[in-house]
Amino acid sequence: MTRAGTTGRVVRVAGPVVVAEGLSRSRLYNVVRVGKLGLVGEVIRLVGGDTVIQVYEDTSGLQVGSPVVDTGLPLDVELGPGLLGSIFDGVQRPLLALARGGGQDPFDQPFVHRGVGVPALDRQRRWTVTHRVRPGDQVVGGDVVATVQESQAIEHRVLVPPGSGGTVTSVGESEITIEEPLVAIDDAGMTLLSRWPVRTRRPVARRLDPVVPLITGQRVVDTLFPMVRGGSATIPGGFGTGKTVLEQSLARQTDADIVVFIGCGERGNEIAELLESFPQLSDPRSGAPLVERTVLIANTSNMPVAAREASIYTGITISEYYRDQGYDVALLADSTSRWGEALREVSSRLEEIPGEEGYPAYLPSRLAEFYERAGSVVALGEEQRRGSVSIVGAVSPPGGDFSEPVTQYSLRLAGTFWALDSDLARRRHYPAIDWTQSYSLYKTSEWFDTNVAPDWSDQVTWAVGLLGRAQQLQDIVELLGADVLAPSERVTFAVAQMLREDFMQQSAFDDRDALCPLHKQYWMLRVIRYFHQSAQKAVTEGASLDDVIGSGSAGEIGRMRSWSVDEVEAQAEKLIDRIERELTPP
Ligand code: ADP
Ligand code: MG
Repeated sequence: MTRAGTTGRVVRVAGPVVVAEGLSRSRLYNVVRVGKLGLVGEVIRLVGGDTVIQVYEDTSGLQVGSPVVDTGLPLDVELGPGLLGSIFDGVQRPLLALARGGGQDPFDQPFVHRGVGVPALDRQRRWTVTHRVRPGDQVVGGDVVATVQESQAIEHRVLVPPGSGGTVTSVGESEITIEEPLVAIDDAGMTLLSRWPVRTRRPVARRLDPVVPLITGQRVVDTLFPMVRGGSATIPGGFGTGKTVLEQSLARQTDADIVVFIGCGERGNEIAELLESFPQLSDPRSGAPLVERTVLIANTSNMPVAAREASIYTGITISEYYRDQGYDVALLADSTSRWGEALREVSSRLEEIPGEEGYPAYLPSRLAEFYERAGSVVALGEEQRRGSVSIVGAVSPPGGDFSEPVTQYSLRLAGTFWALDSDLARRRHYPAIDWTQSYSLYKTSEWFDTNVAPDWSDQVTWAVGLLGRAQQLQDIVELLGADVLAPSERVTFAVAQMLREDFMQQSAFDDRDALCPLHKQYWMLRVIRYFHQSAQKAVTEGASLDDVIGSGSAGEIGRMRSWSVDEVEAQAEKLIDRIERELTPP
């Protein structure tokens, strides 16, 4: 029996928005089940006696008078071993399980399995548990009570829930399912499975200043606009500028422990491609299969619009859960604009007063809530574990116009801005990161100088200076022609081109080039810088610019990208010798 005030009926259906009456006990963000199918929805507004619900499933066929039941619970996610390697929809239903059940390809067909209550995590699977506590032990929220080897590389740490604690009163078996007794604390049972409401941040002991870079293997990113573990980045770019390729490269290559990828409102075939490529790939660092460190949340363009919002919150909550276990998590969202569009659609159905470009007035606060869940933290518990969530959100401004609201608010919130440029993309300069607009606010030079090479940041300063100088020269050339440039300026111009083409450009589809480790980035830049110095000297001493640019060593610089990572240093030293020989006048 449902209690009075928890069952109501539909009075209006407007796309993903449903209005119900009779739900006097409803609270904001409670989950409701709508209609005979029990479609999943969330209360988003209470107006007089009416309850406004955003439905995360297709509402077609839903009629006025249909029943609505309030579950009394907020939208939450299941947390526990088995998340890694899974593919979920926006409300955490396992997509492949759904697809198998209905014989449908979830990315090809409209979402047909409406109202199906498939649990996120497998109830049958037994896990081997290593208990970390004994009866009589005192524990506080965040302490590790048990571990499970969830994948080859990831030990799943089961934590006392935030705010709980006490004395361990019993310890369960060591081969259990996620619902069987794990431990009891003051006689209250805990299982491997826990839940967390998605709109609530998981609490931490302390937040730290993020200073350790999140290595991406992309030269232009790591060297010029680095990201940090616990930081946030935004990638705005018009259609076809490479947002998805960059997000997917990060999914494969970043040195985070865990990757949560949210395909939000984009084409299903892109997610399908990612899925196909993953099983064959291994983590470039641990060697473990890449799927085993990844959670995929797919709410593709053919799936219900309102669930895009749920996909974002589901993704960030899962990320925080692994952060609290002491891992560095990278959350990649492609694209946050589609979420913004969903907010806009729901808002217009609610007949709210529109803000900028039709987006609701709360767009900036929603985006802020999302980006602010990034961070480097000390987790709750005695152990003082450190973990982080890094967020990289793609933005798809219509017509590539960065003045639109989602781009503008995102760039105010994120610490790194990788602006993709349509002109660069047209010229096939990939990644099409515009170095004149992009920036990173993170202070990472000390880390690079200490951990890669003492002159790392010195070299970066040189590269940035060279690009800036070349830009100025470009303006002069456009005005007055190349003839006015002094020989040494022509060298600058030529070397800046080298820097752009042989260093900043990087193919995501070339096996040798797709991932560039830091030491390779360092040596490649060092060679170009050495070439610059030698060329300047040679030209000042009378050598012809054409000879310098046409030298064999200049050609070899164009092949550095293919150097095998184990031979980088030897190759670089050989090339530096060759530059020395070729460019020093006899
Ligand atoms: P967006 O998501 O911004 O619409 P995509 O990421 O789908 O754009 O990129 C469009 C195309 O650009 C890709 O199919 C690919 O051909 C090319 N491209 C983008 N980035 C790279 C890269 N790093 N290396 C090689 N090609 C790229
Ligand atoms: Mg895309």
